[in-house]
Amino acid sequence: MVPVDPPVGSFLKCIVCVSNEGRIWTEVIQGFTKDSDDLERNLIFLQTLLEKAHVRPKVICRGCKIQRYCSVSHLVADRPEHQPLCQVLGDLQKSMKIDHPLKLLGRITNRRKLQLVISQLMMVLLVKLGRPLHQRESQLIGNPAVCDVCFSTEALEDCARCAGVAFCSEAHQRLVRGYHTPQDCQTLALIATPFRQLNCLVNIRDFHRSCPIKESHLIRAFTEATNMRVSDTPWTDLESYQLFATCSSFSGIASLCLALSHISWVPDPDKAVIVYVAGATEETLRYFQDMHLRFLFLQYPSIRNLEIHFIGRTLGHIGPVDISFSDKNFEQTVVKHFYPLSFSQYSSIFNVDPTLLLILQPDFFGAGVVTQRIASLVQKKVPVELEWTGCLSSIIRSFGVPICYTSISKAQAMSDCAAINLSAKKNKIAIERAYNILDNPYREILPLHNPAPEDTEKIVYANNYLQVMFTSNKNH
Ligand SMILES: [Zn+2]
Ligand SMILES: [Zn+2]
Ligand SMILES: [Zn+2]
Ligand SMILES: [Zn+2]
Repeated sequence: MVPVDPPVGSFLKCIVCVSNEGRIWTEVIQGFTKDSDDLERNLIFLQTLLEKAHVRPKVICRGCKIQRYCSVSHLVADRPEHQPLCQVLGDLQKSMKIDHPLKLLGRITNRRKLQLVISQLMMVLLVKLGRPLHQRESQLIGNPAVCDVCFSTEALEDCARCAGVAFCSEAHQRLVRGYHTPQDCQTLALIATPFRQLNCLVNIRDFHRSCPIKESHLIRAFTEATNMRVSDTPWTDLESYQLFATCSSFSGIASLCLALSHISWVPDPDKAVIVYVAGATEETLRYFQDMHLRFLFLQYPSIRNLEIHFIGRTLGHIGPVDISFSDKNFEQTVVKHFYPLSFSQYSSIFNVDPTLLLILQPDFFGAGVVTQRIASLVQKKVPVELEWTGCLSSIIRSFGVPICYTSISKAQAMSDCAAINLSAKKNKIAIERAYNILDNPYREILPLHNPAPEDTEKIVYANNYLQVMFTSNKNH
């Protein structure tokens, strides 16, 4: 069963209520899979949950001044969970003689300063706690409850619809209304909707029309392919949400289609098109279900045989899977292979010769854990283990193979690019970019809070940026 995290964007909610909600959701999801006849009952239950989603949490913890609760009894119940973070922030306020952790660098006057304080608080917590922050802790610090206008931490209320922006007074609420566009509000509402906890997609069987991949985008390509219209207000009911999430899940395969359209390869019906998915995880596999593969065949009818090699340390030992789709005229087949190996291990055992190498959101440099890495340096502890150390040089040694990777944010895309350039320079390898870092029209459409809270780009999308490149050996 998928672990259920508290919904994001809930910094102004009672953390105990939120995690109770999470538990109820887990039960509902289990109910879904066990007994789908009970769908009706579940749906009513879900709607009730949605309606009571917003209770204003008036009780603020006196130790840290930032954790909020609906009632004293929930504050007491949460004590064991909350204590470690509360202690660190309480001590910090005493030693710095401040009355709120966010005043660490004096009064917050702009967003830059707020980002700086957030990073510093994260660092203090990482060092003092000696462990990575729990999700609720980094959410509490990374999306702190401050007025969106004056950054005050006093008497806050948030936008009733999205719970994504807060304000200190009616005057500032009016100001927020001035720039908190319906579109922003909808994006934030889509982040906070409890439907996000549900991990079930619609299984699509019928595919219709292809579209020019280079000139299109995810929603258009999906609509053409499936004849299904994606709702503009997907948070209002479960059915619309599920279709929206399903469309979003085509991001992986559609990004692959886009990458294929930017390289030159001769489709030969007798030969298999071979795609390596490096750094694959369980999460990656959800992009390659039967419906996604059929989408690829729809866009590229000339491909008859497709081989996908999933290469990733955390993959289980899974035997090869054969799938075939037969159309009126011909058959299209897929073979999926799974290798629980890192890419450098794989390339030392097997001959690397794919049509395309695909890496979804790799984080080559470990930018996503940079605060953690600095904290472990400060503590003189073992450095944080990085997934791609050693692998990157194997990847760029795949000469002549188109390498396509996606990144979640601009900062992440830059850092991935820098890591590749550095490794290429060290290994005397030349890089040619076929498709430079650009907004990926096939990014997911479900918004996320940026997992790197110190980054200025607040809302991000999976596979947001895409890059396709080739490498060659300078020594020859
Ligand atoms: Zn509560
Ligand atoms: Zn506290
Ligand atoms: Zn204010
Ligand atoms: Zn709003």
